[in-house]
Amino acid sequence: MPQTHSSAVPAPPAPAGSIPRLRLSRLCVAVQGGTPGELFARAEAALKDVRFLEFRLDLLPKPAAGLQPLREFLAAHRDVTAIGTCRRKEFGGHFSGSLKAELEILQEAAECGCQIADLEVESAEHATKAQLARFRESLRVAGTALLISFHDFTRTKSVDQAARRIEAFKPDFIKVVSTARTLADNLAVLRLIEDVSLRAQIVGIAMGEEGLVSRVLGPRCGATFTFASSGEGAETAPGQATARTLLDLYRVEQLDQATRIFGVAGNPIGHSLSPLMHNTAFRRESENAVMLPLKVKALGDLLTVTHELPLSGVAVTMPLKQEVLPHLANMDPLTARIGACNTLRTGADGRLYGFNTDVAGVARPLEKRMRLKGARILVLGAGGAARAAVFGLVEQGAEVFITNRTHETAVALARKAKAKAIKHDQLAKNRFDAIINTTPCGMAGAHPVLPVKENELNASLVFDMVYNPLETPLLKLARSKGLATISGLEMFVQQGARQFEIWTGKPAPEAEMQRVVELALRKPA
Ligand code: NAP
Repeated sequence: MPQTHSSAVPAPPAPAGSIPRLRLSRLCVAVQGGTPGELFARAEAALKDVRFLEFRLDLLPKPAAGLQPLREFLAAHRDVTAIGTCRRKEFGGHFSGSLKAELEILQEAAECGCQIADLEVESAEHATKAQLARFRESLRVAGTALLISFHDFTRTKSVDQAARRIEAFKPDFIKVVSTARTLADNLAVLRLIEDVSLRAQIVGIAMGEEGLVSRVLGPRCGATFTFASSGEGAETAPGQATARTLLDLYRVEQLDQATRIFGVAGNPIGHSLSPLMHNTAFRRESENAVMLPLKVKALGDLLTVTHELPLSGVAVTMPLKQEVLPHLANMDPLTARIGACNTLRTGADGRLYGFNTDVAGVARPLEKRMRLKGARILVLGAGGAARAAVFGLVEQGAEVFITNRTHETAVALARKAKAKAIKHDQLAKNRFDAIINTTPCGMAGAHPVLPVKENELNASLVFDMVYNPLETPLLKLARSKGLATISGLEMFVQQGARQFEIWTGKPAPEAEMQRVVELALRKPA
């Protein structure tokens, strides 16, 4: 990807005769409501985060009914910069009126105090020359800038052509919005921003979950601003993040050319707590870095973005942990033996280096409580997480036993890792120093809730990898029997802490990482 430039770089001069340049913050909150009351209550609430709002008048049943409250709102909040939008149905909005009616509403919104009016490019193209000239003159008289927008609700294709269609009208702002189907679609939008921002004021966004990258990184690439929603459930476009998320979690106001970009890749990935944990750690340690969730449907897409954005590192979830191995320039020997890598670091040579921090995530909490050499440890399950536990603990000199629903899988893993497979019906007769659950049993919604029966819990310590809920039925049962316990949260934080160290070379702020993840897990859904 070409060198990015910060939006702190002076913007190109405004064309002669145009509206005076506005001082805009990087974040505009798009506000909508089913009634004027709801719209302006949300606008009022949004003011605690930003002073830059877009009013989606087209989402009101009668957009004209929003004009008087808009006038009053802007008169009461003179420091607010407002965009007025009344997009028509055929171009992705909700307004069912004519082009003439749309232009009248936008003109009135300008007279009410909106500093920017958003007109879709199709409407600009359909308007007669005289109609458009009259509209532009009315905006000029009101002191309102013209933003011309393009929306593609299905894909990201020919975005440069869309920008050229808009540029033909020489508006004050160009807005190109596409839909991301892949992560790489973000690259097309960010490149467009870099290119056009050298000569004009542009906003570029790829909608959808995959498009979050463009929403967060757009301003860093030169976009004049980006959009956010006023809150969960109040989005005006697919994939729109809330203002608080963009400001607090991704620190969109602070990102600059030097910011290193990291990702957590998987599918699904929307509920991953890694961005919260790592962004908190980056902030705490004054690292100029940000982590974004990357919804990856195909590994090739992740690799393209990693090389071209570029990403400095990636936390990899299943099933990518195995798929990524052939693409690594190198990996540590234990990662190679496990055959799964959960952490990528991009080297100075641009090549990818792989690590498995799940191993430390299992070993470190145990080491704090017991001597691993010679310890008898039972691993329940033989999937991806179990592999890291089994290989890592064998490496530390533990005697590892594996029990799995599909016994053959346990046998195969035991053979590879120099561990022992044990049938479930033998558990009650055996004693272990620790039992580690690596099955999803106990996870919210999973059945059965317990991976073993009470009489099979023959160990002094029980470690459950499941961390949602924090208090799993297995941990509750272990505690009721007076056994020591380790929660999956501790593993999650430990594996994340090692990732932080690999990426930054600094010790991780583990207590702070644990605090924010625990708080998020305890928050009612
Ligand atoms: P995986 O590769 O799909 O493996 C799942 C294992 O659990 C398999 O051995 C499977 O047995 C067994 N299993 C699945 N459903 C079962 C059931 N109903 N009863 C008994 N056994 C069952 O999954 P994974 O990636 O290893 O993840 C497993 C768990 O660990 C998940 O809950 C995950 O969230 C958690 N985890 C936590 C952390 C952390 O940081 N705390 C990190 C990684 C994973 P079969 O072979 O018979 O299918």
